[in-house]
Amino acid sequence: MLNRSQIEEVLEGLGQPKYRGTQVLEWIYGKRAGSWDEMSNLPKDLRDALSSQYSLRPLKHVLTKGADDTTRKYLLELGDGRYVETVLIPASPGLWGERSDRYTLCVSSQVGCAYGCRFCASGLDGFTRNLTAAEIVSQIILVEELSGEKVNNLVFMGMGEPLANYRNLVEALEMITADWGLNIGARRITVSTSGLVPQIKKLAELRQQIRLAISLHGPDDVTRDQIMPINRKYPVEELMGALKVWSEKKKQKITLEYILIEGVNAGVEQARLLTERARGLNAKVNLIPYNKVEGLEWVRPSDGACQSFRRVLTQGGVPATLRLEKGHDIDAACGQLRLKKEGEKKQEPS
Ligand code: SF4
Repeated sequence: MLNRSQIEEVLEGLGQPKYRGTQVLEWIYGKRAGSWDEMSNLPKDLRDALSSQYSLRPLKHVLTKGADDTTRKYLLELGDGRYVETVLIPASPGLWGERSDRYTLCVSSQVGCAYGCRFCASGLDGFTRNLTAAEIVSQIILVEELSGEKVNNLVFMGMGEPLANYRNLVEALEMITADWGLNIGARRITVSTSGLVPQIKKLAELRQQIRLAISLHGPDDVTRDQIMPINRKYPVEELMGALKVWSEKKKQKITLEYILIEGVNAGVEQARLLTERARGLNAKVNLIPYNKVEGLEWVRPSDGACQSFRRVLTQGGVPATLRLEKGHDIDAACGQLRLKKEGEKKQEPS
């Protein structure tokens, strides 16, 4: 899958007139053609030349977990036999049980991850490789085909650290937001990062008004060091500085993600300090009770303790949600399904 300038360049190289670029874009992103052969208004020899070099479907569906009206998790195979996961999350039904047509897709940006956040399955097997822009965008196209639903919200919270794959992320964002591309509004896209300070500042310069979420999980270095190894490289004060740059440039609320872990980061003092940090940034906070990951020992605090933590924030004037996580039963913590599949593959006789 190619972006506009790449398509124009390829077609020009093949001696084609300029209008062919518009035709091809319309087939790929508008009509969602699965093969070059479907492009009936292109000459046959051009279709043959293109299909011998470029694939329109770099991902293959392996399996789906989850039911139609709930969170669905897709395991997808890349051209080199690696796997990534993508999760489709429908909005909760309204008060009277009415369906919403809001579908959020949680996309992956890398195979594995080098950052090793202690609550996350994606980092357990280390980093393998970056996804290309085409592999990122294809997750959306393939899931729309498989589910029959239109994805209208996007979160980069799947496998991988999106800002460590900066160039391909920015290229994918262009394909996703452009009117010649998937045409999803930038304000409906959230990039979530473990806190890569230089890339946050760089992303703040981007023209698109995408949203930013930070995996904070600790309001001070002592707490955050236990959960996020990246904190040793970019400590909390430095991260806060980059987030100030972001809020000044973008004039929008940042989301601070905070997984509540019993005895690690869920104390009252930590709640107070988090309130101060969030107020200083005019940020909102998403509280997520810890979800057990196989192989890790942490414990989820009681519901009452989670609610008390939230109360400190809201009483301090910080908007805070306590997220009732979906998808516990389908290995929804990012990376779990892929680890299982790769484990099976290793055990298969070669
Ligand atoms: S939370 Fe994100 S950055 Fe951290 S290990 Fe998991 S995938 Fe990587």
